[in-house]
Amino acid sequence: MKITKVRLGTISVPLRVPFKTALRSVNSVEDIIVEIHTDTGHIGYGEAPPTGAITGDTTGAILGALNDHIIKTIVGKDVDDFENLLQTLNKCIVHNSSAKAAVDMALYDLYGQLYNIPVYKMLGGGKNKIITDITISVNDPDEMARDTKVAIDRGYDTIKVKVGVNPDLDIARLTAVRAAAGPNTLIRIDANQAWTPKQAVKLLNKMQDKGLDIEFVEQPVKGRDFEGLKYVTERSYVPVMADESVFSVEDAFKIMQMGAADLINIKLMKCGGIYNALKIASAAEVYGVECMLGCMLEAKVSVNAAVHLACAKNIITKIDLDGPVLCSEDPVLGGAVFNEKEITLPNAPGLGIKGIEGIRYFD
Ligand SMILES: [Mg+2]
Repeated sequence: MKITKVRLGTISVPLRVPFKTALRSVNSVEDIIVEIHTDTGHIGYGEAPPTGAITGDTTGAILGALNDHIIKTIVGKDVDDFENLLQTLNKCIVHNSSAKAAVDMALYDLYGQLYNIPVYKMLGGGKNKIITDITISVNDPDEMARDTKVAIDRGYDTIKVKVGVNPDLDIARLTAVRAAAGPNTLIRIDANQAWTPKQAVKLLNKMQDKGLDIEFVEQPVKGRDFEGLKYVTERSYVPVMADESVFSVEDAFKIMQMGAADLINIKLMKCGGIYNALKIASAAEVYGVECMLGCMLEAKVSVNAAVHLACAKNIITKIDLDGPVLCSEDPVLGGAVFNEKEITLPNAPGLGIKGIEGIRYFD
């Protein structure tokens, strides 16, 4: 199975409601689609969301990395030479994790198709069903309480609440959300780097004192402030998850060696795909640090790849793969079935994607 060409395009998928965090506000998913074609007529699919505020990867940067570096290193290569192919992909350009992730997942898709096995089974997974949380955007407390009610009515039992925009409101936000959610809903929060270390400890312990029962907090402080993250982890009763602090397996090792976080959030777009995500998961197994599998605002192509990974690794105990359920349309044929919180993988080879509607190709 030789790679003959790579086609690039974009998809546009509207969101049900605008997505707001401490870092950005977005109305629709506008992602790059990668199709890797082979001499056997197979196609491997990948997706990369431009998230300049998080990864630094803009649409132009993703296209530049693909067109100027990645595509020419993989065209002509044999998919069966899988390990070498993945190492070549990772070595041909530094950073650019979103472009690499899109190609990495398309290669896993093809390798699974070559041997007629779903990717999650290829990775050793024994289950094909996971349960995701859903994100509540950061707004005024009343609006967040209303959004929480909608999420509960849609059947979610775990919600992820964005905080950190005007931190003075964060206690009021969580109080309103907890009141709307009732005592049986799991609430995790994400500050997206918005707090200072001291502010984080004060807010988190106040939430604890008020009995708001927070499962964990994601990235309370700046991503590169590992010392600040450790400061919070040591002083907060609420467990701390590293997200923007961990892009690579090297970051994960550093954070775990320092004891700077209790949990790690793995995202394909931060680490460059399944190949590197597996390394982070293995490192976390060694340290006994449980992981969440998260996503950016992504459509179903790349989130589907993350579902395969999540079904394969027991160290991934928390799932934040709500990209597709935040969208009002699904242009992807095949792949994981998203029935609100329940995500189920079909028994199809590779990543199981049969096609994507509405791709605007660049060629
Ligand atoms: Mg996060």
